[in-house]
Amino acid sequence: MRAAVFTGHGEPLAVREVDEPEADATGVVVETEACGICRSDWHAWQGDPLWESRGFSEGHVFGHEPAGVVVEVGDEVETVRVGDRVAVPFNLADGTCPSCRRDMSNLCDERIPLGLAPEAPGAFAERFHVPWADFNAVHLPDGISPVEMAGLGCRFMTSFHGLVDRADVDGGDWVAVHGCGGVGLSAVHIADALGANVVAVDLFDEKLGLASDLGAVETVNAERVEDVPEAVTAVTDGGAHVSVDALGIAETCRNSVQCLGKRGQHLQIGLTSSAEGGEVSLPTDLMVAKELQFVGTVGMPRPHYDDIFRLIDRGKLDPTAIVSETVSLDRTPDLLDAMTEFETTGIPVIDAF
Ligand SMILES: [Zn+2]
Ligand SMILES: [Zn+2]
Repeated sequence: MRAAVFTGHGEPLAVREVDEPEADATGVVVETEACGICRSDWHAWQGDPLWESRGFSEGHVFGHEPAGVVVEVGDEVETVRVGDRVAVPFNLADGTCPSCRRDMSNLCDERIPLGLAPEAPGAFAERFHVPWADFNAVHLPDGISPVEMAGLGCRFMTSFHGLVDRADVDGGDWVAVHGCGGVGLSAVHIADALGANVVAVDLFDEKLGLASDLGAVETVNAERVEDVPEAVTAVTDGGAHVSVDALGIAETCRNSVQCLGKRGQHLQIGLTSSAEGGEVSLPTDLMVAKELQFVGTVGMPRPHYDDIFRLIDRGKLDPTAIVSETVSLDRTPDLLDAMTEFETTGIPVIDAF
């Protein structure tokens, strides 16, 4: 089968023939119909801190935001059949450990990030393997297309879990979103659906325009204001209730904390890049004086998909709103490369393999 494979950190992916995956006893093989191209793929490809130690070797396949049709089922799988339309959470979980049993499968003790660990090749390929399929294969409701599902991706799930389960967003609250890439635009869209007033911050007017289309009532171009926290504080009448760092560089993280009002919550979604090396210094005295909270969030527990499907069904959420284009597998190397200069707007989704 064809796949876009790793050839070295920062080196262009190569599209070529690779071995077919086979279903293990509890796994299934899925024929890929769509897969989002995501900044997490870019981080792994670049060898950023969190991913470096994973030791991707030549030939590894990224891609962790797929939807498709089951084509092979392992002997011990009970709830998934050939022909089922499924999506997969990017953090694969065993479904049985203490964390999974406490509705924290996003933090599963045995979790394997699809496409982002050597032992779990991803879906920049015609087919991919899903381990522990009874837990990880999410059946798609009728009416949700593969591209829509790929549009949900890790950014959407992470933003949803962060804003719904980890932070306390009430209707009428001010939610600031720093960085309007895929994660940030998802956060804008979800916060708007939750009834919040959203202020979006980015360096690019084009991305701020998209944020407005998705429901942001105020935008701040960080290039054109002297002081971002001050600008956000001014439009939010004293500071945001919840502020999201959807990028993960030192500047957006600190701006996000500094633009909060009293007892505000900072939600850290973006992982840091090589420049930060996994650490950002914070205005701790300010955090004490204003009783601020710093909240981390990653992925979404598997059972929460149904909450998202319900909101899509009611017309409150539209995951395709942040899909910028659909492309063929052959364009994957170029699109990943374009992320280096933040040139992509919204999410490209591969829909031809
Ligand atoms: Zn588990
Ligand atoms: Zn992703």
